[in-house]
Amino acid sequence: MARITLRQLLDHAAEHGYGVPAFNINNMEQVLAIMNAARKTQAPVILQASRGARSYAGDIMIAKMVEAAELMYPEIPICLHQDHGNNGATCYSAIQAGFTSVMMDGSLEADAKTPASYEYNTDITRTVTGVAHDVGCSVEGELGCLGSLETGEGDKEDGHGFEGKLSKDMLLTDPDQAAAFVAATKVDALAIAMGTSHGAYKFSRKPDGDILAMNVVKAINERLPNTHLVMHGSSSVPQELQDIFNKYGGAMPQTYGVPVEEIVKGIKYGVRKVNIDTDCRLAITGQFRKVAQEKGDEFDPRKFLKPSMDAMEALCAERYEQFGTANQAPKIKVIPLAQMAKRYASGELDPKIGMTKAA
Ligand SMILES: [Zn+2]
Repeated sequence: MARITLRQLLDHAAEHGYGVPAFNINNMEQVLAIMNAARKTQAPVILQASRGARSYAGDIMIAKMVEAAELMYPEIPICLHQDHGNNGATCYSAIQAGFTSVMMDGSLEADAKTPASYEYNTDITRTVTGVAHDVGCSVEGELGCLGSLETGEGDKEDGHGFEGKLSKDMLLTDPDQAAAFVAATKVDALAIAMGTSHGAYKFSRKPDGDILAMNVVKAINERLPNTHLVMHGSSSVPQELQDIFNKYGGAMPQTYGVPVEEIVKGIKYGVRKVNIDTDCRLAITGQFRKVAQEKGDEFDPRKFLKPSMDAMEALCAERYEQFGTANQAPKIKVIPLAQMAKRYASGELDPKIGMTKAA
């Protein structure tokens, strides 16, 4: 099956009212865990690679692993997405490497840590969108900086995230500015800031509306009902995974993630892509710890990796069911990049933005 674009997949998700988890990949075991979960649940897949993943595995390895997944799981549509592109070069080289979607994160400058101006963000995102759409590739933009509403701080993921503290207005995406941004840049999906942050330490307590601003998601969706929204940092950090990690010698302080029921609520408010990395990492390394502690003489890496893959596969399958992604794969007929390019050129995929009452 041809590789699907993010735009086509999220259009389908919007039409049928579901969300798609985007899982990060760095190695073969993560790819197999995700693909086995997708086969089991008949879910379409978003595999995403960060800049860190690309430098860890290399572009050729990432591209060939995904090619292998296409051959091994021909019934599953796969979108390969660049997570947090920091500039044009990162996005364009991803497209060269076979990615069908890129995130141009202009909420931060190219150093991936300095909060950028609205003008900078709009300019660079519009430029990348112009190039990407010419070849049929999708673009996700970001408006607002991801960070904790409890502390005002961001958490770096693979070296990406602001330093210091930001005020609440920078940590929450403004609906009217979001409408202007989407109109100016023509992004296919918009990542919003609403209190989620990267890494394992998202909240110091089970989040309520003060620290996880679902009302902002709702307000943006009311203003931009046709825009696909993206929730970053949306691992749930399940207690049972924390317990396994700590039972076998781990020292992870108690933490709280984004509850699945809040994500499901988000999907009702137009969230179509849900980024999950921490949960997968935790599922894997919890099993590393278990094997290492229970079997002190074990030195075959496969004996560590197999239970790790099984734990990650179970987690991914659960999310496909919870987000409504399950059973959607057979309903999708992939539109090739060249045809997507023609659709962009004709203007049929231009953003549809309603008039605001205040305007
Ligand atoms: Zn992110």
